[in-house]
Amino acid sequence: MISENFKNVLKRIDEAASRAGKRGHDITLVCVTKTATVAQIEEAIDSGAKVMGESYVHDAAAKFKAIGDRVKWHLIGHLQTNKVKDAVRIFDLIHSVDSFKLAEEISRRCAALRVAKEILIEIKTSEEAEKFGILPEHAISLLEKISGLPNIKVAGLMTMAPVVPDPQLARPYFARIKKIAMIISDKRFRNVEMRYLSMGMSQDFEVAIEEGANIVRVGRAIFEG
Ligand SMILES: *Cc1c(COP(=O)(O)O)cnc(C)c1O
Repeated sequence: MISENFKNVLKRIDEAASRAGKRGHDITLVCVTKTATVAQIEEAIDSGAKVMGESYVHDAAAKFKAIGDRVKWHLIGHLQTNKVKDAVRIFDLIHSVDSFKLAEEISRRCAALRVAKEILIEIKTSEEAEKFGILPEHAISLLEKISGLPNIKVAGLMTMAPVVPDPQLARPYFARIKKIAMIISDKRFRNVEMRYLSMGMSQDFEVAIEEGANIVRVGRAIFEG
């Protein structure tokens, strides 16, 4: 079942990518494993999954212990500063940085490990949409501050569109994030590149790809049903 679901998601990614003038392999599929068991994750890996996305450091730590670094691990949920030490050990990419304080702590913990890590900045698409993320009007000043930190590099933006009854209604939110990424890119801040746009989930990943996403985060379409 998981292998069929996984193949079906890959096919839909391929088709959406070609509508966007890209190839399927230009898009990174993050398999969101927050509700999945280790056995289910193993099944996804056997089907070809290469990147896992977890919401909580604690849950990820247990799964990382069982599965290890055969796959890459991305943190897609909110990160508290007191969990950063474990997070930088487990995750290859943190999608959810939304404050200077958090970025500073990630840089500090990376310095202790003598590594530099890429992060994404989470943008809130609307005041009501969700609790976390920074509002677009505050993004530029945050990025300017973060660009001075020694051990992190900003590699792009992440967003969650509001839950809407029809995925087409999420399109303007994705288009807006793409536009913000272009504005940020034009600023040429040190240590800031807009290579990745992480947007789109089970309900709307095809629309997100059409609007420029090159990382999609898909859980239910792979692990449920
Ligand atoms: C759960 C989650 C997803 C995946 O959602 P599905 O509807 O299961 O595809 C993607 N991104 C974030 C931030 C999530 O918390």
